[in-house]
Amino acid sequence: MMDKVELHDTLTREKRELTPSDGKQFRFYVCGPTVYGPAHIGNFRTFVLFDVFYRVLVAAGLQPRFARNITDVDDKTIKASQEQGLTLRAFTDRYTEKFHADCDTLGLLRPDAEPRATDHIQEQIDLIAVLMEKGHAYQGADGSVYYRVASFPEYGKLSHFDPAALQTQATNSAEALNLADEYDRDAVADFALWKAHKPADGENAWDSPWGRGRPGWHIECSAMSMKVLGQTFDLHGGGEDLCFPHHENEIAQSEGATGKPFALHWMHAVHLLVEGKKMSKSLGNFFTLDDLLEKGFAPDAIRYLLVSGHYRQQLNFTLKGVEGAASGLKKLRKLAAHLRVPEDADRTAPPPGSPTGAFASAWAVLRDDLNTPAAIGELFKTGSALLSESPREEDRMGLHKLLFALGIPPVGPENTTAETDAPEAIRALADRRWQAKKDRDFTAADALRAELTAAGWQVLDAKDGYTLEPLAR
Ligand code: AMP
Ligand code: ZN
Repeated sequence: MMDKVELHDTLTREKRELTPSDGKQFRFYVCGPTVYGPAHIGNFRTFVLFDVFYRVLVAAGLQPRFARNITDVDDKTIKASQEQGLTLRAFTDRYTEKFHADCDTLGLLRPDAEPRATDHIQEQIDLIAVLMEKGHAYQGADGSVYYRVASFPEYGKLSHFDPAALQTQATNSAEALNLADEYDRDAVADFALWKAHKPADGENAWDSPWGRGRPGWHIECSAMSMKVLGQTFDLHGGGEDLCFPHHENEIAQSEGATGKPFALHWMHAVHLLVEGKKMSKSLGNFFTLDDLLEKGFAPDAIRYLLVSGHYRQQLNFTLKGVEGAASGLKKLRKLAAHLRVPEDADRTAPPPGSPTGAFASAWAVLRDDLNTPAAIGELFKTGSALLSESPREEDRMGLHKLLFALGIPPVGPENTTAETDAPEAIRALADRRWQAKKDRDFTAADALRAELTAAGWQVLDAKDGYTLEPLAR
């Protein structure tokens, strides 16, 4: 059973329903981190939102197969490894492990495949060889191999760019500006597929039909996504800065080589801002996860904040925002405890199928272009009324589904079962009060309620029973 999921597509600029094109699994690829230091919270906005996307597909029964790469060779990783006197592998292993640890702290599910660029050098060489054969690539005078953008008339279709306007483009990739390359290319828009070895690369070079060197950045994602997911797959995503030129180049490489459509749908997450500016390492205005944990913020509150903005809108990050997120989280957890949602609801998917109860609307808006803020809004809107009713199975299931999809653990340090489960003596008092009420002995019932209040408990009556809530202290 499958629930309908619709999503805006960067390529067609329309909202489209997602369906597995092979009729079985929904296959998607997300550009992963460049492992030269800890990822910042802006990077994590993108990764957390794609984690929610993955979870929604699981909960909707689309059986996703999710691949996310590790970029472990580029100018930055090479330079930093040399500065630290480590081999590239030892250096990038360290930051891959750090990335995994941070992902675990923020409650991200592991992708089904996580290919590393340096483990797939041969696949990248093979792909470049096909591009050479088909006339899409040429070797420059400097020994590097370039993609001939003019050979691919559809270039620009994703970012809606006119290739003629690219004359002003200053860089050939998102990597450091390499002015020397400018003079060895036939056209400024042409980008490097294989970079001839330079002294600064040190030992980080591989043999190829075009001499020793290393792959350009864009080719790794084409080679690895097609290896892991097939030549045509369902969706490709990343942060908005990757749309051009990275994803445009991936399309040119992959479709140029195979003659088949590459990704059928494109998804881009808009950047996180700090005081109105993009959070980035180069601007120095970034927080890592550790920076925020050291300030005393809980990882769940950080995740909640990152999830509370829509992926196609900017999210302005402030420390006040994390505090606000902590109180939203607390309210959600109160509701989860009341409905007795299982404690592992964020890790274990409920069975597919639409919830029928109070949370049907929250689940519907989440499946409509991944509207996380609207889903959280719906949770609160319908949830608060439920607090004064006895829990229903369909609502427990519904909230379980939403908490799984958003990746929010129902139990946190501020809300343990010990606090919300009333002790035996309190429950005995409350039972006596319920009986008195049923016997229409309202004087006794009121007296018993007063006793419960004095002990710090509130009774919430429903049609066929009651629940107990600790009074705010
Ligand atoms: P990188 O490690 O630089 O390759 O970036 C990893 C991912 O983080 C990419 O998908 C980027 O688009 C994304 N990213 C970078 N900066 C931000 C930001 N400020 N907000 C959201 N995503 C970002
Ligand atoms: Zn990529």
